[in-house]
Amino acid sequence: MKNIVIFGAPGSGKGTQSDKIVEKYGFKHISTGDVLRGEIKNGTELGKTAKGYIDNGQLIPDSLMIDILASVYDSFGAVEGVIFDGFPRTIPQAEALKQMLAERGTEVSVMLNLDVPEAELMDRLIKRGQISGRADDNEETIKKRLVVYQEQTSPLIEWYQNEGKHTHIQGSGELEKIFADICEAIDKV
Ligand code: AMP
Repeated sequence: MKNIVIFGAPGSGKGTQSDKIVEKYGFKHISTGDVLRGEIKNGTELGKTAKGYIDNGQLIPDSLMIDILASVYDSFGAVEGVIFDGFPRTIPQAEALKQMLAERGTEVSVMLNLDVPEAELMDRLIKRGQISGRADDNEETIKKRLVVYQEQTSPLIEWYQNEGKHTHIQGSGELEKIFADICEAIDKV
């Protein structure tokens, strides 16, 4: 059982690379952003709460995210691997993930840190916004999301380094080369 955290700033390619991992390894994929967008689309109470945060480029409160994550994870049953995409985004979330997995007799296998220069992230997200139609892929909200990433999410790099789980992945350049580096890291654990 492999638990892979795919980590990086907004626009670093987590979703794209997760799809490729799913295709190659048959792992299950939890994208907390996709879960929240699904709730918004279905007009649930959770969706209504989440929308205000997402449209403003802010993070959903940790307690809410942790409950959502545990219920999605438990719905998977016995699988060979799970990819965590967009979670954890804060240190309390990383601690909660560690505890949740320990309670289930497992742990994070590796954290893949997709590293992309900030100017390129901005460029990619603006381009994505033109086709994704995502309400938060506009220049003003992107800027806020990148600040939130720097302040609240990037400290996780050091946190996972201390856990001995961090692997740096050069996230700019050719898609297949990035994927090959990811596969090498997954195959090692
Ligand atoms: P993403 O699709 O991963 O870029 O997430 C889009 C938005 O969903 C983020 O900007 C947050 O508002 C929210 N979100 C997704 N995952 C999390 C998380 N782990 N913790 C808090 N908010 C999240």
